[in-house]
Formats: sequence, structure tokens, C-alpha cells
Amino acid sequence: MKIIDAHIHTNFADQKTRAFTEQQGIDFSLKGLQKELRENAVESAIAITTDSNAPTPGEFSLLKKQGQEEPRLKAVCSIHPNYTSAKYQSMVEQALKGSFLGLKIYPGYHSVYPNDKRYFPFYQLAAKYNKPVIIHSGDTFGSKYLVKYAHPLAIDEIAVKFPKTTFIIAHLGNPWVRDAAELVYKNENVYADISAFCIGHAHGNDFKRIQQDIQWAINYTGRPDKFLYGSDWPLTRMKEYIAVIKKAVPKEHHKQVFYENAKRVFHL
Ligand SMILES: [Zn+2]
Repeated sequence: MKIIDAHIHTNFADQKTRAFTEQQGIDFSLKGLQKELRENAVESAIAITTDSNAPTPGEFSLLKKQGQEEPRLKAVCSIHPNYTSAKYQSMVEQALKGSFLGLKIYPGYHSVYPNDKRYFPFYQLAAKYNKPVIIHSGDTFGSKYLVKYAHPLAIDEIAVKFPKTTFIIAHLGNPWVRDAAELVYKNENVYADISAFCIGHAHGNDFKRIQQDIQWAINYTGRPDKFLYGSDWPLTRMKEYIAVIKKAVPKEHHKQVFYENAKRVFHL
């Protein structure tokens, strides 16, 4: 089965991620990543900034260099709400004109709602270059952040205000899966990735909960063409998470969810 992973992180110098992966025995390095991509026949992976404090465009040179080193890695450009002036807008425009496949914002990590005006020029740029905006949504990695900013309902307003911009709700807003699914159902321009429903190793109860949540969302929306597989590597091993999502997504939708939807949305 061909796979595109719509959500991974590749800042191998990030200490917080490193500490977690060491605990889990995951090889958080370019070599470790390449091994997992190869073993799981992952054709491309969308690489996202690891450090949410990095100024716009987050970890730009790192992601650009990695994309040149490993062509399966496709970068998206992160937006920090404190770095949004014309200078940053022009840097982001250059990135979108070049090899970057989309944008990402982090409402829960920055305590800034997605409908903050500082983000608007970037939503317009994304529409201009027909590239999606990924929005971190749902639980945060660490307890010091405020999840009220990461609730998926906050995305509805920008989805309506920017109908030409494609938005991807990361993690299907987990645990607010029903709210996120409603946005996918109601707004033609809203998609969801189904990464990080469990991190580390999947345990018995995880399978049942994840299956219930994801099947409910696909069923309710009737739109299997709008859900994208993503692992959130290195927070899980690709092989384990692929197995989890294979069980959770009905077989007849595997081709779309694991491959075709991401290929279409990211123009791969
Ligand atoms: Zn992530």
C-alpha cells in the first residue's frame, strides 16, 4: 500500500522530543527516519517545525536543507503570531513560491486564536498559491499550554471567512473529534489529519477508542476524501501507527486516507 504521511517532525536537535523518543526507544535521527520511511513504503512525509517558538518561517533553513538531503521530506512553513509583519509575509511568500507545500499555525502553543487578524495575510497567501494551512488542534504536548485556543470550533470562523483557503485540522481536534468532524462536514475547504491519537506505544484500549472516534467522524461527514493519514513521528513508530489507523479506517477507504487525499491536498 502506498503511503503519504501528512504530519511528522524533524528537528533532531529538539531536546523535549528527544527525551520522549529516548524513553520510547525510537531512533530520532535522519537515519532512523529514513529507515522507517523505507520499511513502511512511505513515499513522502510532510515535515513540520518542532519548535513552536521559532520565528516565522519556523526552522526554514533546516527544513529546506533536509528536503534537499532527503527528497521524501516535504516541508511546511510555520507562522509565529509575533512575527507577521510585511517582512515575514514576504519570506513566507518566497517559501510558498518555492518548495514549501503549506503553512502551519499553533493556536494552543501560542495562546492566540486562529481568527486573530495577524494570521489573515498568511491565509490569503496560502489561497494565492493553492497550498493548505495546517492548524494544530486538540491536546497539546505539555501541560503548560492552554487548550482553549486549540479547540477546533475556533477554526469555523476562518473557514467561512477564507473560503478559498484549504484548512487541515491536525489530530482531528482530538479529543474534540465531533466538533472537528462537524467543521469537515460543513465547510468544503476543511480537512483533517488523523495523527497522534496515541503517542508512544498503542495499548489495547487505544485501538477501540481510536476506531470508534475515526469511524464516527468518517461516517458522520460521509467524506472519506477529507481525512489524511499522519503519524506525528517521532511520537509514535510509523509501523505501529499505520497498524492502528488501518484498523480504525474502514478498508474501502484506505487508499484515499493513506495516500490519495494527501496527494491531492498537497499537490504531490
Ligand atoms: Zn505534530
